[in-house]
Order: sequence, then C-alpha cells, then structure tokens
Amino acid sequence: MAAMDPGTSAEELFARALAVTPGGVHSPVRALAAVGGRPFFTRRAAGACLEDSEGRRLLDFCMAFGPLILGHAHPQVAAAASCALADGWSYGTAEPYSLELAEFISARLPWAESIRFVNSGTEAVMSALRLARGITGRERLLKFSGCYHGHADAMLIRAGSGLATTGIADSAGVPAAVAADTVVAPLDDVAALEDCFARHGPQLAAAIIEPLPANHGLLPQRPEFLQRLRELCSRHGSLLIFDEVISGFRVGFGGMAAATGIRPDLVTWGKIIGGGFPVGAFAGPRELMAQLAPLGRVYQAGTLSANPLAMRAGLATLQLLESGVIYRQLETLGARLEARIRALGLHCARVGSLFWLPGGPARPGMLRSAAHCDAGLSAGYPQLFRRLLDAGIYLPPSPMEIGFLSAAHTAADIDHLGDALAAADAERD
Ligand SMILES: *Cc1c(COP(=O)(O)O)cnc(C)c1O
Repeated sequence: MAAMDPGTSAEELFARALAVTPGGVHSPVRALAAVGGRPFFTRRAAGACLEDSEGRRLLDFCMAFGPLILGHAHPQVAAAASCALADGWSYGTAEPYSLELAEFISARLPWAESIRFVNSGTEAVMSALRLARGITGRERLLKFSGCYHGHADAMLIRAGSGLATTGIADSAGVPAAVAADTVVAPLDDVAALEDCFARHGPQLAAAIIEPLPANHGLLPQRPEFLQRLRELCSRHGSLLIFDEVISGFRVGFGGMAAATGIRPDLVTWGKIIGGGFPVGAFAGPRELMAQLAPLGRVYQAGTLSANPLAMRAGLATLQLLESGVIYRQLETLGARLEARIRALGLHCARVGSLFWLPGGPARPGMLRSAAHCDAGLSAGYPQLFRRLLDAGIYLPPSPMEIGFLSAAHTAADIDHLGDALAAADAERD
C-alpha cells in the first residue's frame, strides 16, 4: 500500500518510517515520546482539525506548534499559495513578493526598518547572532535558561546551577569552545542579570530572549525584568535580540515589542510570518542590517530564501491579522478555555491564544523556570494526553509544550475540550 493511501494504519506507517528515518520522525517532538505514545500520521488538515491515516478526525490544540494562527488550510492563504504556485516557485533572483511582505511589516513595525527573510526560525536566530557579533566585534552571547531559540550550536545550552555561568551543551556535537561563549542566566532574576553584566558585559555581543518564553511551559516575564535587560544591553553596548518566533504576530500584530513598548535592537520571526510555509526573518534598524552582505562584512545567504510561495502565503496571513479583530476573537476564546479549566479547580497559564495546562498561577518570582507547574498534572499528563487523543482531541505532546488556539477554533471546540478535561478529571478522582 502506498504510504499516502487512506486507511493505512499508523502502526504500519511508523514501522516503515523507523526503517528509513531516525526515530521515524523529522523533528523529535513528533515521536510523542514525552507522552509515552506512538505517532499518528496526519494525512490532511482543515480548520481546527487533523485527519489521520486511519480516517480519524482530531480536534487540534497544537496547530503545528504555532504557525497556524488562522487554522489549517485557511481559504485565503490557500488561494494566495495556489496563485503563487502557478507562477513558479523558486527564481533565485530578486522578486516583488518579499518586497511586498517586507514593506507591509516595516510600515507597521518601525523597529523592523530593514528585514531579511530566511527559511526557519533557527536560521533567523543564527543569522541575527552572527550579525550581532559582526557589528560589535565581540564573541560572547547571553541567553536565558528555559528559552529555546532553535538548534544552532550556540543556543543549545542550559544553565549551570546558581547564578549566571557559561554553558554546558544540551546536545552532543556542540563544541565546548562554542558552549563556553554562551552565558546563561535565569529568567525573572534582576540580581542575577546585573551580576551577569557586571562580569561579562564588555564581552557580550548580544543578549537574546524570548520576551514571552513559550518553549518550556509559558513563563510571562515581568515588564521590569525586560526593561532592566534593555537598559543593561544599552549601557554595555550589547545588542538586545527579541526572539519573537512564537510571540511575533501572535500576542498581537506587533508581538511583545509592541505589547511591552520595549524596543529590541534586532528581532527574529518565524512560524506565523510564513503562514505555515517554511520561513524565518530577522530585522532591525537600517544601519545595523546594512552590515550584512552584500553591503557589509557579515555573510548570510540562502538558495531558497524568500521563497515566493511562502512570501505570498505570509502576506495573506498578516493582512488578515492586521485589523486586530482576530486577536480579540482569540482572547475571547482563550478566556473561555481558562474559565473552563479554573472551574475544574486547575490553573493554566495563558496569554491570549497561548495556554499551558500544567502551568500554575502566574506569580512574580515563580517565572524562572517551569518548576512551578502543577506537579500532579504534569506527572499525569501522558495519561491525560492519551485519554484525550482517544476522545478525538490532540493536545500538545509534552507537559512542557504549550497549546495554541487559532481563528478556526470555535466556542463549541473550547467547550468540547473543557468537557473532555472534566471527564478525565472525574476519572482520575
Ligand atoms: C520555534 C522556535 C524557534 C525555531 O524555529 P524553527 O523554525 O523551528 O527553526 C526559535 N525560537 C523560538 C522562540 C521558537 O519558538
């Protein structure tokens, strides 16, 4: 049977995938190992639902980990992508589609005067870090424990214990010399931040942060903390990079830079900016971005960069988001979900359309790590995940991954999730 034929069992597909792909998947989280499961195989998707190879419909609360703020296969994005397809899909020349997308963003977000498109969030971060090093002539980088910035070597670093310390790699294959240039500090800890700049400030090319950390639970930071980081970067001549790959165009059109009023020197985007097609971007003031090739000495390039399909799908997506109507609709849905969860006596962390089920009440001083999450819910999460999957609901496949709502979700979908959580909760007691 062809792997794409409907009716093929996930068991068969997974066995075949294991033979030709490490772990059977092309990104580790898809193996569902954190919830003790085995992958199902999505054949197609529309709106808020996935359809798997066995013909089962799943109400999706993961939404491809963030890009699909409009839902799967949104008709206007699909139309833009089909038009683009008819015009050919890779030119290797200058083209007007990335120009339109860059102008659209830059006209609305003044801190993104000059934009370069790449193919993923990882690539955007990697390029922004090289640019920061090239501009400052410094080599060290500051990141925060629990923040994920893609899988470039310099970012696969966790915190040592205690105060700011240089990193130990999370992954084999990261040279110790690379790890040694990444300083890791805890989130939500102004004293540690000050200590870190006192020790490393003159060597720091950049500090990079998810201004809304959303890759190890959801850990909204106090504005004072982000403000202090801004001040310390300015004082020490280090560039501040906001990694808005998740938060950009998600918490509002202007992401966290607009929500907090804090201006980064460079910003990275991914996920929503390509409407679900492979895109990343990084941006900043014209004089900083001018240090990139072909104008400047910092090299950065890409055969498939600014892919016209992705550019046109991205523009269609951002055009639909611009008015703010969808953000208000998502806030209403998010509030409804939060109320349903609280009614069960559970807490969830939530910002707009982002939610983290095992997240405890967001109290200042508890946002340094995901350690404050509901330990009971977190421990029981694999069972909860599998129970809801059996009920036709796909939750994020790890207690540390957050959930995503989209414009395709309805109040009835939220209630459906609420009812399923209530049933699971009743069973647990
Ligand atoms: C997803 C993510 C990345 C990596 O993007 P990819 O497209 O997966 O390479 C980087 N930073 C943040 C904050 C992300 O959420």
